[in-house]
Amino acid sequence: MLIVMKPDATPAQLETVCAHVRELGLIPHRIRGETWTINVFGVGRSAPTERLAALPGVSACEKNGEPPTLVRRQQRPQGTTLMVRDEPIGGGRFTLIAGPCAVESREQVMRTAECVSREGVRFFRGGAYKPRTSPYAFQGLGDEGLRLLDEVKSRFDLRIVTEVKDVETLPAVVQVADVLQLGARNMHNYSLVEAVGKVGKPVLLKRGISATLNEWLLAAEYLLAGGNAQVVLCERGIRTFETMTRNTLDLAGAVLTKQLTHLPVIVDPSHGAGLASVVPPLVLASLAAGLDGAMVEVHPAPDQALSDGPQAVDFPAFADLAAKLRNMRRSTELP
Ligand code: PEP
Ligand code: MN
Repeated sequence: MLIVMKPDATPAQLETVCAHVRELGLIPHRIRGETWTINVFGVGRSAPTERLAALPGVSACEKNGEPPTLVRRQQRPQGTTLMVRDEPIGGGRFTLIAGPCAVESREQVMRTAECVSREGVRFFRGGAYKPRTSPYAFQGLGDEGLRLLDEVKSRFDLRIVTEVKDVETLPAVVQVADVLQLGARNMHNYSLVEAVGKVGKPVLLKRGISATLNEWLLAAEYLLAGGNAQVVLCERGIRTFETMTRNTLDLAGAVLTKQLTHLPVIVDPSHGAGLASVVPPLVLASLAAGLDGAMVEVHPAPDQALSDGPQAVDFPAFADLAAKLRNMRRSTELP
């Protein structure tokens, strides 16, 4: 059971409610959000919901676990805005994160960074440690990739979004990343999720390939319960029966998620569709749908990419997308 305290509840009222819970032989676990919530653990006697709900300072008693607590929009109706070195994610802005799937070479990342920053992009993506489906596929440049990302960061004043593959390489990634990306394959890896949350840097949490919205929100709940509310959710497509697209970008799920949570929600149509030609229209659709941004894979020569070439847009296509986004923003501003 969850006991949600009123925003103006006093510490003494919180303590009184916890004491009542203990008297029942149950364990109260306090969670600090915008308001205090007490998660009640234990078996045996069921807690007298009505009596607890009537205690001073209590707003409501609810059934355990569903929907998640700290990520709920009601916790912060105005929404969460992340600040990443003076650049916001959320708060009404549409944030474009762009760059290659993987860091492959100095020339590749510098050229791509030059292209996207010329278009006004402030967030650069690129994997140094790549979780690949096949053990024979390119696994990323590792530490050398991180060094190149660090160079991109200082040379173009771009904020770096890069994936954390495991706990072992987390300390190295933290040195360079401005936003720690938790990939679809690791959304359910709760020990990694917790470790990444503890670092205290903004986290981009991708939806698992077959995760429900509730499972995705609960993974985010791990981060918030661990004290890190700097989280952006990224819908990257789910596995369906369709085979023509790599995954199915769940735009409806992303919109619903934004209604359910105060966290910013962005989409990744590159992995969501798997086809470069489909990516730009989906970015425009996500802007029209009121989402907080999109992540796009860009490569100087997609047909030579070491990973995810078919879904990478080339430089002219990226410039065209950026122009369309600028136009759309202008044309949606009513006179
Ligand atoms: C990526 O962003 O390159 C990536 C591996 O994404 P996902 O975790 O969504 O598959
Ligand atoms: Mn990729």
